[in-house]
Amino acid sequence: MNSLPFGYLIPIFLIVLYFILRKKKSHVEPLTETDKQILNDYVSYYHHLDSTDKIRFEQKVAGFFATVKIEAVGLEMTTLDELLIASSAVIPIFGFPDWQYKNLSSVLLYPDTFDKDFQFEGGERNIMGMVGSGYMNGQMILSRSALRHGFSKSAGKENTAIHEFVHLLDKSDGATDGVPENLISHEYTLPWIKMMHEEMEKIEENKSDINPYAITNQAEFFAVVSEYFFEKPELLKDKHPDLYHHLSRIFAQQPAG
Ligand SMILES: [Zn+2]
Repeated sequence: MNSLPFGYLIPIFLIVLYFILRKKKSHVEPLTETDKQILNDYVSYYHHLDSTDKIRFEQKVAGFFATVKIEAVGLEMTTLDELLIASSAVIPIFGFPDWQYKNLSSVLLYPDTFDKDFQFEGGERNIMGMVGSGYMNGQMILSRSALRHGFSKSAGKENTAIHEFVHLLDKSDGATDGVPENLISHEYTLPWIKMMHEEMEKIEENKSDINPYAITNQAEFFAVVSEYFFEKPELLKDKHPDLYHHLSRIFAQQPAG
C-alpha cells in the first residue's frame, strides 16, 4: 500500500507520455515513387548518391516536411518546389546524423525576387532569399525563380536556397557571423576566420572566381562559398584546396568524392 499516495500520478504520467509520443511521431510520411523520381531528375546531389544514401536523403526530406511548414505566397505550389526546398535544407546537413532546424518553423515561397518589405510586385526587387529576424524569426523566404534556377544546369556555383539554409546553420549558435560554432571544433575557429579574410582579400584584388558578394561580410562569405562547395565541389577543390578542406570539415562531407 506504500505506492498508494502516488497513485494519482499514474494517469497524469500516462497523459504526458501520450503527448510526448504523439509529438515525436508528427506524421513523417514516406516519399512516393514520383517524389523520388523528381529528386533523381532535378537534384543532381541526390542523383549522385549511392542507394543507401538515397534512402537516408529521402528520410531526411520526409522528416523536413513533417517539421517545417512550406507555404506559397501568390503562386500555386508544386511538388517540385516542395522537394527542391527540402533538398536545399537537407544537402548542407547531410553529414550530420540527426540535425534538426530548430530555428525554422516555416518557409514562404514567393514567385520572384522581392524587396526588403517583402513586396514581390513592382518597385526595386532584388532579394532572392532571406532568413527572417525580429518578428520574422523562424521564417525563411525564398523566390521560386531563384530556387529553380539554383537546381538548373545553368546555375554554375550558385544556389540561393542552399545559401539561406547555410545562414540558418550559421545562426544556430546565436550569431550569423560566418563561424558556425556548433559545427566547427574550437581549434579550427581561428584558422577558419583567417582563411575567410585571405580569400576575401583575393576577391577584392580581382584574383578570385568566388562571387564578389562574398566580401559583404563573414556570414555572406560562408554562405556563398558553401553554395560553391555543394554546386561545384570538384572545381572548388581544384582551385581552392584549403577552402574545400575547411568546408568539408565543417559540413562533415566530401562532395568532390
Ligand atoms: Zn546571404
